[in-house]
Amino acid sequence: MVESDPRRSIPRTDHLLALPEVIAAGERLNQATIKAIISEVQNAARAGEIPVAEVASAIVSSLASRSASSLTPVLNATGILVHTNLGRAPLSPAATQAITEAAGYVDVEMDLGTGKRSKRGTGAKAALLRACPAAEDALVVNNGAAALLLAVTALRGRGSSGEIIISRGELIEIGAGFRLTDLMTTTGARLREVGTTNRTHVADYAEAISDDTSCLLKVHTSNFRVEGFTSSVDVGQLRTLADEHDVPLIVDLGSGLFTPDPALPDEPDIDTALRAGADLVIVSGDKLLGGPQAGLILGRTEAVQKLAKHPLARALRTDKLTLAALEATITHTANPIHDALHIDPDHLRERTEILAEAVGATVVDHDGRVGGGGAPGVPLPGWAIELPESCAEPLRLGDPAVVARVYQGRCLVDLRCVPESEDQSVAAAIKRVRADNA
Ligand SMILES: *Cc1c(COP(=O)(O)O)cnc(C)c1O
Repeated sequence: MVESDPRRSIPRTDHLLALPEVIAAGERLNQATIKAIISEVQNAARAGEIPVAEVASAIVSSLASRSASSLTPVLNATGILVHTNLGRAPLSPAATQAITEAAGYVDVEMDLGTGKRSKRGTGAKAALLRACPAAEDALVVNNGAAALLLAVTALRGRGSSGEIIISRGELIEIGAGFRLTDLMTTTGARLREVGTTNRTHVADYAEAISDDTSCLLKVHTSNFRVEGFTSSVDVGQLRTLADEHDVPLIVDLGSGLFTPDPALPDEPDIDTALRAGADLVIVSGDKLLGGPQAGLILGRTEAVQKLAKHPLARALRTDKLTLAALEATITHTANPIHDALHIDPDHLRERTEILAEAVGATVVDHDGRVGGGGAPGVPLPGWAIELPESCAEPLRLGDPAVVARVYQGRCLVDLRCVPESEDQSVAAAIKRVRADNA
């Protein structure tokens, strides 16, 4: 290295910490964060990414623009409603407001009339029971996986070695490498797989039931579809079997429709599953229901109470923010997931055409999807603006961050899940990217 290499004169940390702007930032940010920003900028200068003379000003501007969390809000232009990588359901204005109101001290476990301790989550539970009259009781836990874990653990009868009977067609992996089967066997339960991948019959379940059976479990195959020569056993048939052998029946629906939705005719709903005889139905709060991450357990009082009283319930409980957002979501009709699913096609087309015109691009047919949250393979017909694939990365890295769909060498901007009020900023983002690319 040459003596005069300017990179050797990068300002030292103690010198930078003494800058008035950096000292002032200490009122807002802790020292660990400030030091991390300083060392990030010093490293960038060492790597020759920024001139040494700009180190101090880069630190000052980075400190100033530091937001409360490193999570970056994005505009979801993929057309996928329940996008797990983008945080699944965006909350409704009512749910967002409820979270803000619950952020301080709240009466989550106190009766303000008596000043005594009260039950937690009574408002959310009451809202669930109003939305779902077929349920006798309800319980809210951290997420769908937690609900399933609690259900199979708490319903394991005394003396039973805990065999869970499940169809081979319903052994699913719900996320990268995350299998429901592994989750259930961590409880010490054994899985008794019945039937085949494509076909399972009532007789398969009946033959497998023994004194070791702890429950019958039916899992909705929420993220894939088996077509062709298939058959499965419905909840009603399993109820008959469960009664004959006095074993509980758990139904994991994955998504959270309370009642059938004509837009998704094959998506099962809680009401129908309960009426058909499930002891417990499990759904996620942040899929089609459009609420916060949560696991909702609805069903018969005896079964729900077994779960509520199990020690594990305490480890899986939700916080006050979730309870507030969930209650608000259930109580109000509109939410972004519901709106995107039931979007007026003519209006979506018009918005897409206006945007295409503004940025000088073409409109192509494009199907939206529900996503990992349900209705696998069901297209939601719509449109997208077609751009070169090279636009996708700068759109993601822009402000606002726009996440479009990269497909077959193109970048497709689908407005289905973009709030209409943001159409202008999407147009501006595309124009900037195209100008930079030109
Ligand atoms: C999504 C899903 C789960 C897991 O729910 P989380 O809320 O993500 O924990 C469990 N079962 C099925 C069928 C699912 O679709």
